[in-house]
This record gives sequence, C-alpha cells and structure tokens, in this order.
Amino acid sequence: MSGPIRAAGLIVLGAACAVATAAGQGRPTGTGYAVARGPRTLDTSRSAATGTVAGVYALSRGAVVRGYLSSWGLPPVAGDFTVTDNGLVFRSSKGRVSAPAATLSLAYIDPENGRPHYLFRIDSGVFETDAPGPLLDVVRHQVWLSSSRPTSGGTGRLLEANGPAASLESAREIGRSAYADSLYSLFGRPRARLGVVGSRGRSAGRLGEYIASRDSLALDPGHMTGEAQLRHALAHELGHRWQARARAQLAALWTGVPGIRDPKRYGYGDRPEHQAEAIAFAVNFLQTTAEEDAAPESSLALLDHYELLVPGTRTLVRYLLLQPLYRRHPLRPMLSTSRVRYALEK
Ligand SMILES: [Zn+2]
Repeated sequence: MSGPIRAAGLIVLGAACAVATAAGQGRPTGTGYAVARGPRTLDTSRSAATGTVAGVYALSRGAVVRGYLSSWGLPPVAGDFTVTDNGLVFRSSKGRVSAPAATLSLAYIDPENGRPHYLFRIDSGVFETDAPGPLLDVVRHQVWLSSSRPTSGGTGRLLEANGPAASLESAREIGRSAYADSLYSLFGRPRARLGVVGSRGRSAGRLGEYIASRDSLALDPGHMTGEAQLRHALAHELGHRWQARARAQLAALWTGVPGIRDPKRYGYGDRPEHQAEAIAFAVNFLQTTAEEDAAPESSLALLDHYELLVPGTRTLVRYLLLQPLYRRHPLRPMLSTSRVRYALEK
C-alpha cells in the first residue's frame, strides 16, 4: 500500500469496465477495467440546511453504526461510522479513518437470509449494515453532512502526477510482485509483458485491459488512486484470462449464482464483468483472511458481505481454496466442499 492510500483510509477507487466488442487485431476482445467517473452527487446548496444538521447531530452525535464500507467498487471493509460534528466518519476495524462523508442516501434494503441489510450510498461507495440506527434519520433529513467538501471525491489520481514512465514502471512493478505471482499460479501468466493501457483505452476510461488474442494484459496505474485499485484491476483482468480459457468450468461453477443486485455496481447485468469482479473479490478475500490468527468465524461473516455485494464470490473462494496456493489457508477445511470438487472435475 502506498502512503497516501493508507493515510486516506479506505478510499478509493472506482471499478468499472467497458466491454469492447471490437474483434479487430490488436483491439481488446475481452474487457477493460475502468474507473467510474459518475456524476457527483454533492449538492452545495444543501449547506443552507445547517440548522437541520445541528438538530440531527444534537440527537445522534457520537452514535456509532457498525457495518461494511465498499468504496469505489472495491471489496467491503468492516468498521464503524461515527456521527461527528463534521459529518460521518468511517473507521475500519484495522484503524484506518476516512474523510467525513458528504452525501448519504438509502439505496435499498436487501432481505438476505431473512434479515434486512440496509445499503446506503455514501460518497463514492456503499455502506451496508443491519442496524442503521441514526443513519435513517440522517437520510430522512437530507442534510448536508460534511462541512468540508470531499477532497478525493472520485477522479482519484494520486499516481497520475508521476507521469507515463512512472505509470509503466508501476504496472511492471506489480507484475513482478509476489502478489502477481500468486495470481499467475491461479490463472496463468499472460504471454506478453505487462503493459499500460493505450490512448484508446484510456480515453474510454479503462484502468485495465486483457486482450485475449494476444494474451496480453495492460493496466493504467496513472489514473488509479492507489495500490488497492491496482491489485483489484490485476485480479480482475487475469479473471478475464481465466474466462477465456475455462469457459465450461466457470459455467459449471456459476450455476445458480444470482445477478448483482445494485444497479450502480460494476458488473450489474453483465455476466462476464460480474464474474471478473467476483474473481477479484474472491482473491481479495483469500488474501485478507490468510493470516493464521484471523478468527474463522469473523472471516466467514466477512465473506457473507462480499457475497451480498457481488454474488458468486463465495463459490469462487471455495474453488480457489482447492488450488495448491491456498493449501495452508485457515479457511480451507471449512469452505472446500465436495460439491465444488465435483463441479471442477466435470
Ligand atoms: Zn472487465
């Protein structure tokens, strides 16, 4: 993780690809992983509602809401939102603190497993909780949450200042990392050397591309906000490599997996992109929970929240746990089932 990202907390990044259907030589036949540069929801006119804000905060200041924050399409992180004088501040269970949230709305309620899960949109992400408490009041009053404008609202280009050469070097660096080696052992290593997304892909907003005809993978670190997005993009694009080589196997694994519920999440209504996101989520989950001292119960609970946002993650986690890379993973005895083994052998 780079310093700025660690400091900013959870941050980060938009995940969105654009599907390229062009079949011409040298053009992406897979898809690109791209940043979502969606409309800002920040409404400065709400600053006039200061009186209401004060009223709401007087009631709920200091209240803590526990849940999971998924910023810019990345996997959810457990933590607490606290209502402060400046707005809602998220602190992850690992102690990372976000900037105060400036916007909040209730997206939908998901009755997963017979319990309502509340999905709030909050700045550039979603926050999921089954005990929303004061957040419902805050939403109801449509208040201006933060006295300070968000400073990393979404275009997020912390690495961009380093220039194109640094972008290529960043791509090559992650390509040489132990993390990349882990991914290669799962999905294979592209034949071509890892490169940067070309001007056409960049103008389409892509942060990554996998070109199946050339077995080549490119990233655009220059437009990413940090390492979390870079790692996600690499896993996502290598997921496309796996799709291109194991269509039947993935189809067997994917049986019964419902679509993504959130229309704003990348991969909604698009199975290949949904699968690539689930692959990246599964890899992230396995890396996150690989430490021996992590309590299996909390790891399994965390997986439920990945699954809620990107269905199919659990199935892929079970599959990946059977690979040699994860033979010593603490969750392997609990999650590798005979049903998945059977699907793999088909
Ligand atoms: Zn993609």
